[in-house]
Amino acid sequence: MSFSDLGLSQKVVDAVSAAGYTQPTPIQAQAIPHVLARKDVLGIAQTGTGKTAAFTLPMLSILEQGRARARMPRTLILEPTRELAAQVEEAFIKYAPNHKLNVALLIGGVSFADQDAKITRGADVLIATPGRLLDHFERGKLLLTGIEILVIDEADRMLDMGFIPDIERIAGLCPFTRQTLFFTATMPPEIQRVTEQFLSSPVKIEVARPSSTAATITQKLVATHGKDYEKRETLRQLIQTAVSDSDGNPLKNGIIFCNRKTEVATLFRSLQRHGFSVGALHGDMDQRSRMAALDAFRKNELTLLVASDVAARGLDIPDVSHVFNYDIPHHAEDYVHRIGRTGRAGRLGTAYTLVARGDEKYLQAIEKLITKTIEWEAGDMSSLPERAPGEADEAPRRGRGGERDRKREKPRGGREGREHVRTAREQKIIDAAAASDANGEDATPVERAPRAERAPRPDRAPRAERADRPERGERPERAARPEPAPRREAPPRRDDRRRNRDDDGPTPKGFGDFMPGFLMQGAAIKKD
Ligand code: AMP
Repeated sequence: MSFSDLGLSQKVVDAVSAAGYTQPTPIQAQAIPHVLARKDVLGIAQTGTGKTAAFTLPMLSILEQGRARARMPRTLILEPTRELAAQVEEAFIKYAPNHKLNVALLIGGVSFADQDAKITRGADVLIATPGRLLDHFERGKLLLTGIEILVIDEADRMLDMGFIPDIERIAGLCPFTRQTLFFTATMPPEIQRVTEQFLSSPVKIEVARPSSTAATITQKLVATHGKDYEKRETLRQLIQTAVSDSDGNPLKNGIIFCNRKTEVATLFRSLQRHGFSVGALHGDMDQRSRMAALDAFRKNELTLLVASDVAARGLDIPDVSHVFNYDIPHHAEDYVHRIGRTGRAGRLGTAYTLVARGDEKYLQAIEKLITKTIEWEAGDMSSLPERAPGEADEAPRRGRGGERDRKREKPRGGREGREHVRTAREQKIIDAAAASDANGEDATPVERAPRAERAPRPDRAPRAERADRPERGERPERAARPEPAPRREAPPRRDDRRRNRDDDGPTPKGFGDFMPGFLMQGAAIKKD
């Protein structure tokens, strides 16, 4: 089957062949004719299946008829994150070089004024994150009554992020007669309910979830101690060895996955201090830093990218030579997604997974899913070091002060009294451990080697996301009615937070759950 068999306009078929695609992917072949027939579609597919083109290509054909009116966009695509929204905008630019269409991107972290100007001009395609879209709506800048096609992408991730109430509200603002295209990777009951509410006699298209890993990826397990500072040493050693990989796949670039955003930030800073060329991607970073890190990694200006699953999910990063699972994923499917970042299109890829005591059950689940036993690079499960007394259980969720608690676990003046059984690899690493942190974060009781050259500080350290605040210096607009305050992108609801694997709750404020002793002391109140 070719693209010209699907009923797409000639302009779109030409653009697709200019993009270098010869054959539609299964989701494209199945969805495009139904979208063109103006049916509602429920697509169960994840990124990497070509689902973006499955909705953008027929939308382009449909949009060739008619024109947009001021403040009344014709089509709306909702994405859970700014990066995914920006990626869909890129797809429109790529597939529509010959279409004179106005595409507006409404995402947080960017000035309202530019976005307003685009909506005012009339948008054929509006791509938005839910929070920023509602901000514009509440400011009276936008009407959704002209929407002909509503696309809800990555719906299960919207659920994870607590966006479903916003999505319900937005769908209620669109006309009843609209066409709805709904994409989700999984079908939890809440998503099932939402599809029944939003879709009218949809055509259901399901593309198999990948449960197998590409044969071109070499997968290895590496035994490590669970303590963070030793784990970081194991990782550094692994990266250095991978640079001159004897298996014929030397490290060109790599993504390092952590289970939590706090871990991403800590590991990023640590690698940076050790002189690695590294960027970070997690939900607490401001938009500019996220985009800059991603861009630099794509252009090979950065060798390593430390990322969380949620921040990296769905991002199209081609040609990665290595994946490092610094934390073993707690959901076996995440393992398949993570290592699927490498070994693409028949290229060689290497995936290392660090395994510590307590990770056994996660490893078993992964091996069961991929129906394969992963080889150990060094040691095996029985050689994993015992956990030290008081060492935190590697449970999927830590409490709010988790990061601080882990810092407090660190030995302050050496590790006397600790009884660790180290793997041969760890012992080698500890013995050879060279660099140590400027502030002693990674301090080990070995001699310090000459410090690796200090990498330049990023212009901004990751900070709490201020998604939809107006840009500094931007004057709040004067509207006829009082302006509602700009909102952050919808904060996850309490029950949804538990589901969000990127996020162990909001970044702790003040002392978090930790109560310093001095606050507990009684205070003398002076009597008059
Ligand atoms: P997506 O699942 O939409 O994120 O797409 C994943 C990747 O597949 C993107 O890099 C697309 O450019 C690419 N892609 C989409 N459709 C095709 C196709 N028919 N043939 C080859 N590559 C494609």
